[in-house]
Amino acid sequence: MPELPEVEVTRLGIAPHLEGQKVSAVKVLDGRLRWPVPTKLPKILTGQKVQSITRRGKYLLLEMDTGHLLIHLGMTGTLRILPSTDCLKPHDRVTFEFGKLSLRLHDPRKFGAVLWHANTKGPLEKNTLLQKLGVEPFSAEFAGELGADILYKASRKRSVAVKQFLLAGQAVVGVGNIYCSESLFEAGIHPAKAAGKLSKPQCARLANAVRLILKNAIAAGGSSLKDFVNSEGDPGHFMVQTKVYDRKGLPCKVCKTPITQIVQGQRSTYFCPQCQKR
Ligand SMILES: [Zn+2]
Repeated sequence: MPELPEVEVTRLGIAPHLEGQKVSAVKVLDGRLRWPVPTKLPKILTGQKVQSITRRGKYLLLEMDTGHLLIHLGMTGTLRILPSTDCLKPHDRVTFEFGKLSLRLHDPRKFGAVLWHANTKGPLEKNTLLQKLGVEPFSAEFAGELGADILYKASRKRSVAVKQFLLAGQAVVGVGNIYCSESLFEAGIHPAKAAGKLSKPQCARLANAVRLILKNAIAAGGSSLKDFVNSEGDPGHFMVQTKVYDRKGLPCKVCKTPITQIVQGQRSTYFCPQCQKR
């Protein structure tokens, strides 16, 4: 599943090709995504210019002249820039034409989304899909001590395991399943510890770890940016070098203790029982 780093790498990959460009056509090949693609979208978008491409959580936000196009990659989505003469492939769902270039959403399982938020509907932050998201891990709000404060305040009186607290994304967005295991290892925190029992210093270590792990993942994915144009590669999914994730039974890279796997909320969590004591 594309996580925040993959979405950010997608943004970095497509933005230089599309910012300032005008939509010449939109073809909805199969609009039955997580929510139906608005039938009026081709009419709305054609002739509009992409002002900027930003990201909120796992939503890509294309600022157009009269509103924002929201794109989510769901479980299996990828966005690619291709010459518009390239043939469509099975599972291509929407193609946005920019003269000689196409932006194509390829999504076999169709859990992605392509939605329109008109400026007349009010500020984008108030969009129901965006307004409940936690803070951005790289925002000023989460920088330094502020990040620790956010995690500390949001976790008080919460008996849920810290892994699930992080994964829910209500305090800080973007810490998907792989990055939860990696961040908790980096911070030396047991994944089953009750969120409400985290100390202030643990929250500070965790906030630092989240920023570091996500930053490294984006940097790792950045090396695949050239694949965004005219390539058969799959830049929407890349695997970072993990320290605990998917390493059950293998020696901890710090202390050599075998890595343990547990299941929390039907998702696998990996940790080192020596480095991450309860
Ligand atoms: Zn260890």
